[in-house]
Amino acid sequence: MKRKNYTNLKKEVWDTGLCSGCGACVAMCPADAIIFRKEGEFSGPVHTGYCKDENDGVPCGACYAACPRTEEQQIHRMATTGVGRYLRILSARSGFEVQKRQSGGAVTAILASALEEGTIDCIVTIAADPWTHEPAAVLITDREALIAKAGSRYAWWVPLLSALKTAVVTQKKEKLAIIGVPCAISAARIIQSSEHPFLKPYGRAIRLTIGLFCTETFDYEKLIKGKIQSEIGIESWDIDRLDVRGKLILTQHNGAKTEIPLTELQDCVRPGCHVCGDLTAADADISAGAIGSGEGCTTLLIRTPTGDGFVDHAVERGALLIEGETNLKIIERLAGDKAKRLEK
Ligand SMILES: Cc1cc2nc3c(=O)[nH]c(=O)nc-3n(C[C@H](O)[C@H](O)[C@H](O)COP(=O)(O)OP(=O)(O)OC[C@H]3O[C@@H](n4cnc5c(N)ncnc54)[C@H](O)[C@@H]3O)c2cc1C
Ligand code: SF4
Ligand code: SF4
Repeated sequence: MKRKNYTNLKKEVWDTGLCSGCGACVAMCPADAIIFRKEGEFSGPVHTGYCKDENDGVPCGACYAACPRTEEQQIHRMATTGVGRYLRILSARSGFEVQKRQSGGAVTAILASALEEGTIDCIVTIAADPWTHEPAAVLITDREALIAKAGSRYAWWVPLLSALKTAVVTQKKEKLAIIGVPCAISAARIIQSSEHPFLKPYGRAIRLTIGLFCTETFDYEKLIKGKIQSEIGIESWDIDRLDVRGKLILTQHNGAKTEIPLTELQDCVRPGCHVCGDLTAADADISAGAIGSGEGCTTLLIRTPTGDGFVDHAVERGALLIEGETNLKIIERLAGDKAKRLEK
């Protein structure tokens, strides 16, 4: 059978609207021949012309091997139903002040503790410009920067995992933590477990994955510039916080709140989200979300012994406080609702 390369990725994923924009293919291409392009309505990976495999017959296919949305991967990755496997579920919050936290600041607390302990040396995540709210994939290596960048970026169209190349190849980081929405975490898990020689150095460098619960994510241009700035008339620099709780709640720096029903935001949802059935990041070491816990706490689904160890250390160090009850039923119900998208 012919080895699959970017031509198959294009046919199976890019041209069919299945691409989530996770950026794994961009990072894994050893020839840097896949780039992420944002042009008008389009945002996604494109090929720039030269492919070792296709043009010169040099064995590669690294891009195809990393993608969670190929024909081979999508059956078991995208059809995830329920909350997936986990070891324990708990409600937790940060043991120190995390001003910009989205829920309980538990994600920041676990990672701050791990950075201090030296069990990780770099965090791959998404930050946003405080003035424009434009998102960008970033590498965080110190506690203060991590705390300053807490909070969720719902207006997201940047290829998170493309930053892996800078982390591993340029900066030689060997102890990575990745925070991502479920689609990005699935790609990270494939990279970690792959036997592909070009994926292995990246897989070896990933120590921990934290998946954020995700119903859908919005195109930055359409949500912030289109809906919020042009249509509603709120400037990006006046936005203090965005929260999705059955609706989008926008809080301005002056305290004013604006609620936007999610039904009014359907045009802003990224196309790859319409075919995604995973609410709780089933492939993560630890999954974190707001639902299932009370105000001021984060629900943590600890799925692997690795995740368990990081949480235990954060608790022992006083960085993470376990508090309150969890409501698994509501998480299961919403996870089931999201999985129904795949039936359409
Ligand atoms: C697009 C999106 C949709 C979500 N949808 C839901 C939902 O439907 N239901 C639900 O219960 N929870 C949802 N969440 C998760 C929720 O908003 C919180 O992130 C989660 O509860 C953890 O809160 P925390 O206070 O512990 O995290 P914090 O301590 O605030 O830390 C959050 C960390 O996540 C990183 N981060 C933020 N946005 C992104 C991103 N887009 N990609 C990668 N890293 C990022 C930040 O850099 C920060 O380090 C969503 C999050 C995102 C980003
Ligand atoms: S889903 Fe991720 S790996 Fe697959 S084509 Fe899209 S950006 Fe590349
Ligand atoms: S719904 Fe969330 S996890 Fe699924 S493709 Fe969209 S951003 Fe990724």
